[in-house]
Amino acid sequence: MDFIKIAEIFDKIDKEGITGRIELTKIVAKFIAGVSDEVLQIILLFFQGKTFPIWSNKELGIAENLVVKALSKTTGWKEEKIKAQIREEGDLGNVGGKILSGRIQHSLFSSEMENLTVKEVSDSFQKISECSGGGSQEKKMQLIGQILSKATETEAKFFVRLLLGEMRVGIGEGVIRDAIAIAYNVEPKLVERGYYLISDIGKVAGIAKANGNNGLENIVLEIGIPVRVMLAQKVNGVRDAIDEFGKCAFEVKYDGMRIQIQKNKAHIYLFTRRLENVTTQFPEIVRAVKENVQADKVIMEGETVAIHGTNKGNEEERRRPRVFQELSRRIKRKYDIDEIVGKIPVEINLFDILYLNGKPLMNEKFENRRKILENTVKTTEAFRLAEQTITDSIEDAEKFYNYALKSGHEGVMAKKLDAAYQAGSRAGYMYKIKPIMETLDVVIVGGTWGEGRRAQWLASFLLAIRDPVSNKFLTIGRLGTGFTDEQFKEMTEILKELIIREEGKEVEIKPNVVVEVAYEEIQKSPSYTSGYALRFPRLVRFRDDKSHEESDTVERVEELSR
Ligand code: AMP
Repeated sequence: MDFIKIAEIFDKIDKEGITGRIELTKIVAKFIAGVSDEVLQIILLFFQGKTFPIWSNKELGIAENLVVKALSKTTGWKEEKIKAQIREEGDLGNVGGKILSGRIQHSLFSSEMENLTVKEVSDSFQKISECSGGGSQEKKMQLIGQILSKATETEAKFFVRLLLGEMRVGIGEGVIRDAIAIAYNVEPKLVERGYYLISDIGKVAGIAKANGNNGLENIVLEIGIPVRVMLAQKVNGVRDAIDEFGKCAFEVKYDGMRIQIQKNKAHIYLFTRRLENVTTQFPEIVRAVKENVQADKVIMEGETVAIHGTNKGNEEERRRPRVFQELSRRIKRKYDIDEIVGKIPVEINLFDILYLNGKPLMNEKFENRRKILENTVKTTEAFRLAEQTITDSIEDAEKFYNYALKSGHEGVMAKKLDAAYQAGSRAGYMYKIKPIMETLDVVIVGGTWGEGRRAQWLASFLLAIRDPVSNKFLTIGRLGTGFTDEQFKEMTEILKELIIREEGKEVEIKPNVVVEVAYEEIQKSPSYTSGYALRFPRLVRFRDDKSHEESDTVERVEELSR
């Protein structure tokens, strides 16, 4: 298949600003209905703006500068001139396309051009991801140049956007799922089920195409590809869980990163809840699995927690969790890993098992899965089973909850004893119970202009709290979620009037608008002038009733943080 075919579809979606779910679904369904098996997976990745599935550890590692260099080499344009053009247009994809269009016109007169194929583009991504070591940038540039030299304007535009991971044509998972259901006349629910089990939408589409609903029903999980994890619902207290489940399992809710551990003989894979492959970042977990899991093939889940470490005092102190940011450093670190392993030790608290030696266990009751888990792993100081108590006594459950909080954990999970594992679903078999965070009323003091569809709006807002002593506003985080499109528009209208200064995409805003935000946690942070950062702030409501002078203060944040 020629790359131009899909590039033209992207161009239509982009130029016409198509964002409606129904229309996008129709476009994708119509397109994939006629796509050959060979390129189906690639096309579905491209539709999502991806070059590789999220769980593969392949990445392109391409910065804008390298693409500028490749464009310069291919066209003879000076790098500076290309950069100036980007500043004007704001999108390297568009610029690349435009620069190349002149050249293509020219070469069309002189010689017949061979068409660029989808397979060729995909192969080039593959080769780019394999470049490593000395001279890899040069090699990558050559590979990019080879494609660019064959590309038309539209092809170049979307090739560059794919390279940079900035498609700006927002086609989400839901649309892809529905499109597969329409294209191959299968049940959307079964497509979803298959996708949650093998996280490989191309493969699911292939099965839907070849064997319809029947094929989808027979999908089982596979080692090497992550399963979508089961999610928890929030309830107010342990009483709610016991009312609902009766006798149930309460477990410590550890505050870290969910990890899915997969073992296939000597091969170990570690995936996050978002399906990212983090195997290389945690060599000590890989080692622990090799040494302590007594089975050939296993899929297990647990929570990875950064802890204070081994040299300090008693067990309670050693195991005291560190703030999430420390774990984040481990996740992001891609080099000199051994060094950071020593500095930020982690422990794993295992809480589920989904597969053992060829047998999927998802339909087993939770209490049986836990027993199988206990029989499969040998626990060590840093490779443990989640602490658990099974009870129907509210008093005992509350004691356990208080104990969990006192030990520095987030709260508890309550799990229904006879429930199956529902991949990707918030099925109501697992509840989380944690203290309710009080919201904060904060002032907007800055923002960033959006991109693509949101280029006309301010899309992220810099939040601040008041320092009553200096009467200044000190920053504490950025807010970009919880808004509807209407609210983004409305906010931009209001805030536009208050812009004091603009630099690139950043704007400084006169403190005036107050918003109430919820958040997961308050952390100490050097990134903001208050010295604190809100983790995952989200909009609760606009406080039109409050002036900026009534916003929350540094003292209040200090108190909540304590
Ligand atoms: P939340 O992220 O607040 O929705 O809470 C659910 C998350 O708690 C899960 O995705 C896990 O990462 C984490 N968690 C911590 N301890 C446990 C546990 N014992 N059982 C299940 N999930 C846990």
